Amino acid sequence: MHVDMDAFFAAFETRNMPRLKGKPVIVGGDPRFRSVVSTCSYEAREFGVHSGMPIKKAKQLCPEAVIISGTLRGYVYTSALLQKIFSNYAPKVQPISVDEVVMDITGCFRIFGTVENLVTQMKAQIKKELDISCSVGIAPVRILAKMASGENKPDGLTIIDVDDYKKMFYPRPVDAIWGIGEATKKLLEKIGLYTVGDIAKKTEKELKAYFGKYGTFLYMVSQGRGVSKVHSFEERLDEKSMSHETTLTVDINDIDKIYSTLLWLSDKVSMRLRQGSFLARTISVKIRSSDFETITRDKTVSHPTDQCKLIFETAKKLLPRKYGPSVKVRLLGVKVSNLIENEENRQLSLLEDDVGEKMSASSEAIDSIRNRYGSSAIKLAGTKL
Ligand SMILES: [Mg+2]
Repeated sequence: MHVDMDAFFAAFETRNMPRLKGKPVIVGGDPRFRSVVSTCSYEAREFGVHSGMPIKKAKQLCPEAVIISGTLRGYVYTSALLQKIFSNYAPKVQPISVDEVVMDITGCFRIFGTVENLVTQMKAQIKKELDISCSVGIAPVRILAKMASGENKPDGLTIIDVDDYKKMFYPRPVDAIWGIGEATKKLLEKIGLYTVGDIAKKTEKELKAYFGKYGTFLYMVSQGRGVSKVHSFEERLDEKSMSHETTLTVDINDIDKIYSTLLWLSDKVSMRLRQGSFLARTISVKIRSSDFETITRDKTVSHPTDQCKLIFETAKKLLPRKYGPSVKVRLLGVKVSNLIENEENRQLSLLEDDVGEKMSASSEAIDSIRNRYGSSAIKLAGTKL
């Protein structure tokens, strides 16, 4: 089962600032990161705004949108609360990102009678405790569950088996497969593969000849096959590493974009370290070039860290110089390993000071709006000033 929160950052902001309800809300544009839409509310999507779009363009499409630079701490905190809720429904819950998890519900649904009941109860609990919604996909393997959860957003539930997958996805363009972006789509089209069904007609050997290891992935996913194992948090700690990687929507050689992606990945990784109260000794980067050559480089730092800045700076230094200027990049990853427990944080349970955390999260949101639009841009409900 894949659970994806609906417009998570925007939903969080709207919940904390009810005046935003029903309005187009865009989270993004923090100049420290890339000036693109990170998340937007469904109201904004109606204007054609979507994640990854430059803020400038989003403003043109939807001039009345409320733009918020975001409340990272609040998102992370809410994400932690969500993990707690998810753990009521299955023993194995694996976070994929701040707003997505996969859960192994094999057998668990019997406790709730049916799969639908499990999902209904879980959604109701999230709604009641956090006042946000999610979309759920259920399938025999993880990637199909992920693709299914995107089918009926928001507040959706999509249950598919391999035959359903084939019926639904074979007629669609190749980028309906999760992880296939513009660049790969072009490569596939070059060899005459336009739909998911076209890929499925190829043998693994043929796809490997074009794409190397990635060909195996394409073969597997086109057949509706893939990994189904979900790693619980405890299991993952045994692995003693955490990583995030992203395939870029287009291959890039702009060094600033490469750096901002590394920063974004470092932020995700450091967030997970802090969430789990870990410090990392080793930091690695993974780079795949446009011709599918993949390399990794790592460095062990003198002081174990959970800080984004340090992870980012190290990742930046590890990136060989040829990437960007002379070699285009299609995938970037940041990994931390050699983890140790951060004893200090461990004692301060993230869930202890609920009210304090909520307050600081909403203050941050308010500060960011005021910094951007002036002090009168937002008022606390109940104040007359
Ligand atoms: Mg989401």
